[in-house]
Amino acid sequence: MWDKILTFLSSLWGTLSETLIYIGTPYDLIFALLDVLILSFIFYTLLKIVRDSRAWQLLKGLIFIVVLGIVSNFVGLTALGFLLSRTISLFAIAFVVLFQPELRRTLETVGRTGFKIVTNEDTSGGILSYQAIEALVQACGEMAEKRTGALIVIERTTPLGDLADQENAVEVDANISATMLKQIFYVGSPLHDGAVLIRHGRIAAARIHVPLTEAYHLRKDLGTRHRAAIGSSEIGDTISIVVSEERGTISIGVDGRLYTLDNEDALRMQLHRLLLPETTDKKRRFTIKRRSQPTEYLQSGPARKTKAGLAVLSALLAVIFWFFVQISVNPVVEQSYQVPLLYTAEESLEEKGLAVQYRIMDVRVALRGRRNTLDSLSNRSVSAYVDLSQVEQAGSQECPVQVTTNSNRFTNVDSVSPGKVTIVVRPINEEGSK
Ligand code: ATP
Ligand code: MG
Repeated sequence: MWDKILTFLSSLWGTLSETLIYIGTPYDLIFALLDVLILSFIFYTLLKIVRDSRAWQLLKGLIFIVVLGIVSNFVGLTALGFLLSRTISLFAIAFVVLFQPELRRTLETVGRTGFKIVTNEDTSGGILSYQAIEALVQACGEMAEKRTGALIVIERTTPLGDLADQENAVEVDANISATMLKQIFYVGSPLHDGAVLIRHGRIAAARIHVPLTEAYHLRKDLGTRHRAAIGSSEIGDTISIVVSEERGTISIGVDGRLYTLDNEDALRMQLHRLLLPETTDKKRRFTIKRRSQPTEYLQSGPARKTKAGLAVLSALLAVIFWFFVQISVNPVVEQSYQVPLLYTAEESLEEKGLAVQYRIMDVRVALRGRRNTLDSLSNRSVSAYVDLSQVEQAGSQECPVQVTTNSNRFTNVDSVSPGKVTIVVRPINEEGSK
């Protein structure tokens, strides 16, 4: 019974110290955890992007090919395995080519938010005046009532100059007024097709074409105008307002999501929240946020459910990836050191009137640890010694060799050869001193 517990405990310690080797120092543990945490976040973000786009199909295809490749190699279909392993590297290139928009968007987001954190500048809001927002709200309200389709794209910090430079875009450069907006989107108007671009507090251009979103989970009855609204909200921090011709609804696109608003007031609140200067007092902003919870246009049922699963999956991937990198970049290796054997507690032996007939010799110590840990150890940081405090009488006796390292990193002693040394102890006064 006790044996079993003891063997269990020692095997537990074995695995634990084996794991500690990967971590290096207690100090490294914090960094390892941080590493895994950030990795999980990155994986989570990537998986989320991938899930909402064509990448998901590609990923499934990739997994299928990898599994097939492994199985065929295992079974012995070498030619097929060869072909499939070549396909995988092709996939890596295909990934970059196919997901160039997604990759670009992710990098843009990282750049924008990263910069915001560093410079501590608040880039949201402060874009349109109160009057301009009023004009937008009034125009959208009236257009919704008359069922005039409209799409308005509002530039914030991500520059949209290239949209205005398109071939069929028409430069406008006018004050934002309800009349002007209604004029543009009036069905008989030559400018009504496409979107209106608002930059620097002015109507910059009309008839612009914005990229459509490629999101999968869109409601089927949303047409190209709404897809364009979502697509434009995916360009950095741009926001868009869309008035539906078919339904007479007003929706707002923010961060790649489309929210349908109940009425003009809801639009006003959202625009105040998103576009007014930061000086607006906190209390008002809070009630704005609370009162209009936008209903999402996106189907979010199944997506919500998989969120937790996605988080778990990313954490798991992060841990696996971390270990993979640790093993391949900085593997656990074995290294042996030739170190002189020291004798400790010699004074206590002398007090007992004994002395050691020295056998000066080196021992070989093999240590297991992370490669860079072991590389940082020199012969001098490893010491081997025999503890003489236990020796009580003269004669030859076997003493175990003990090993310590003066590093605070975790290493395991794999072997010491010889593990035991025979020392001969004799009384001091037999042959005089020494
Ligand atoms: P609605 O609810 O108003 O009918 P919808 O989402 O069903 O909108 P469509 O009926 O397909 O969309 O609307 C087509 C109009 O949307 C086009 O006439 C054009 O003005 C506008 N539109 C479509 N694609 C784009 C685009 N990429 N950029 C800008 N405007 C676009
Ligand atoms: Mg339509």
